[in-house]
Amino acid sequence: MSALVLGHKNPDTDSIVAALSAANLYRSRGLDVAAAAQGEPAPETKFVLDHFGLKAPEVVHSVAGRDVYLVDYSDLGQAPDDFKEATLKGIIDHHKLGDVTSDAPLEAYIKPYGCANTVIYELSEYYKAAIPADLAGAMLCAILSDTVLFKSPTCTEADKKAAAALAKIAGVKDVNALGMDMFKAKSNLNASPRDLIFRDFKDFDMSGHKVGIGQLELISLDMITPELKASLQSELAKVKSEGRDSAILVLTDIMKEGSEVLTASDHEDLVLKALGASASSRWLDGVMSRKKQVVPPLEKAFRG
Ligand code: MG
Ligand code: MG
Ligand code: MG
Repeated sequence: MSALVLGHKNPDTDSIVAALSAANLYRSRGLDVAAAAQGEPAPETKFVLDHFGLKAPEVVHSVAGRDVYLVDYSDLGQAPDDFKEATLKGIIDHHKLGDVTSDAPLEAYIKPYGCANTVIYELSEYYKAAIPADLAGAMLCAILSDTVLFKSPTCTEADKKAAAALAKIAGVKDVNALGMDMFKAKSNLNASPRDLIFRDFKDFDMSGHKVGIGQLELISLDMITPELKASLQSELAKVKSEGRDSAILVLTDIMKEGSEVLTASDHEDLVLKALGASASSRWLDGVMSRKKQVVPPLEKAFRG
């Protein structure tokens, strides 16, 4: 059976496209792999796949007995529940080192870049693996998505360099216009409050406290009506009551470059204070990155 190249739970564009682009890289090296995802593409990813005529990876929820290459994460919590019965063969990522481990030597490429596809672009150069134009376009979109059009503090020179090279391969003339079309597709609020919260959601273990953080990146927070905000808030309380210390939703305005934060928490004051917010003022100016600007201060606060 082919080894699986698998992105994280609640897959985003980077994790789905990274499964496709890492599979392309591994195949060029003669490895027998298949791209996989732990869920269907969200609206943004669907736009990207349709735009470049690519097929979504096979959806996989169980990996027992399989060889697995991880892309865009290295946390057990974001892997399938039976991950410990699989054989970890490799990791390509751009997050802090997670808690997966392996029984045998593996290959791991982790760089402090804004996007896993930037790492895969560099590896493709290194291994002289050709990137087809349609795949290059999707990789470009993954970089635009993860770096929020190069505006996120996670964005590096390597991301910009990879994006420029991939745009050339894909024949994309107006990178910014493509990015705006993609974020318009992403700003689709036509889903249940629960689906909106879980569209891009990650659970973290913070000093023994389970903290779930969702993020919605929108071209304008004016799209969120008071009614929708109220239903998101009450659904968030439900998400918290499902075994979490805290459930947090970060509503990011990509044009205003900041976020409003909704919280349901046993440690409400601690969470708000850590983020620089208060019960009355929930706007966080300049906050766009969960990974860099939301998770670290919360981890620090929970450490005490
Ligand atoms: Mg991701
Ligand atoms: Mg990523
Ligand atoms: Mg993201």
